[in-house]
Amino acid sequence: MGSIMAALSLPVPAAPRKRIFECPECGLYQALGALMPGSTAKCGRCGATLLSVPESSLQRSLALVLTGLILLVLANTTPFMSLNIEGRFQQANLITGAIALWNQGLWPLAVVVLLTTMVAPLLTLGALCYVLVGLRLPRPPRDLPVVFSWLEFLHPWSMIEVYLLGVFVAYVKLIAFASVDVGVACYALGSLMLIMVAIDFVLSPELVWQEMERRGLAKAPPVGGGGALLLCETCGLTAPIGERGSACPRCGAARHPRKPDSVKRTWALVITAMIFYVPANLYPVMTVVMFGQGEPTTILGGVKELLGSGMWPLALLVFFASITVPVLKIVGLVLLLLTTQRGSRWRLRDRTVLYRIVESVGRWSMIDIFMLSILAGLVQLGAIATIEPGVGAISFCAVVIITMLAAAAFDPRLMWDSAGANR
Ligand SMILES: [Zn+2]
Ligand SMILES: [Zn+2]
Repeated sequence: MGSIMAALSLPVPAAPRKRIFECPECGLYQALGALMPGSTAKCGRCGATLLSVPESSLQRSLALVLTGLILLVLANTTPFMSLNIEGRFQQANLITGAIALWNQGLWPLAVVVLLTTMVAPLLTLGALCYVLVGLRLPRPPRDLPVVFSWLEFLHPWSMIEVYLLGVFVAYVKLIAFASVDVGVACYALGSLMLIMVAIDFVLSPELVWQEMERRGLAKAPPVGGGGALLLCETCGLTAPIGERGSACPRCGAARHPRKPDSVKRTWALVITAMIFYVPANLYPVMTVVMFGQGEPTTILGGVKELLGSGMWPLALLVFFASITVPVLKIVGLVLLLLTTQRGSRWRLRDRTVLYRIVESVGRWSMIDIFMLSILAGLVQLGAIATIEPGVGAISFCAVVIITMLAAAAFDPRLMWDSAGANR
């Protein structure tokens, strides 16, 4: 009797029903039941992550997001770094670098640095906080799904972790000729980086969407139903074309069987990146003037300088980020495009892994740009030492951003389609 009463007083768990997932990287449809908390489901064909269900995802994410917001405020209100050369003192905040770039006429760089290190992280954390707090309210705001959809687009542009490496390179360059003090903001930013990485591990967007379904903010996807299945790139739902046509039944975003004009758009962007790649390497990225002497250096020149002063681990890092990565991205994308157009069946799984690498590694090339913004902000000591950013930096920054857009425009499922694997 007691056990029956206990059973009656507990909410009856819904029978776990299977949902269909289309793999975003190879296009294979797979049915998944409810996952155990703490587990991840990967595509059986290409290894892409289909779904991950971290334990108490939403609660832990909220705690991390709140901590992140506090750190972000600290990072923007305390001194970042200070410099002392021959008795001249210079202090910089996080925003000083962007202002220095703006004042020297390199406004495109100033905008990119500002967006990637301040605006995107702030909007990402702010939007996450709004959604996660909103979902705990008795009457959650109706716009949570819209705000959460933005995150998909914002997320790649938040580059705290890359900025921190740029800080490290700038620091090593500075201590060669000045005494440098690291401020509170630097430590705050380091902690914020760890928090952002932790959020990526702990937050499962699918669980947020399922919570929105449960709270009546987003429509639960129809069970079964005929018709072609479409994957929503915004919320990750795979559902048939229903009464809302090609619009996603859960989040309302427009859906397409494949990214529209993917191959053409990717080619256009890759060719543009190739064109910018030439001035990026020919023109100087910066000029260091010490006691009235100095000459402009290019990207490769900067690596040679680091090598010359014996800092070869750092030289290797900058060489990898600024020279290897952009070339790898351009060559990699050209290879993916050509093999797709030829309908090649050659190493489909490896090519999908290559796509994954090209897509995720691109942001790291921003190290040089961030380093430049820090040096330009800090080293403004008149006759003793100044660092002036050069025009090559704008072209280089353009290469990084255009190749990131190119990777986002390419639809890896087309490789499998054209090879006849998705019939
Ligand atoms: Zn797959
Ligand atoms: Zn959707």
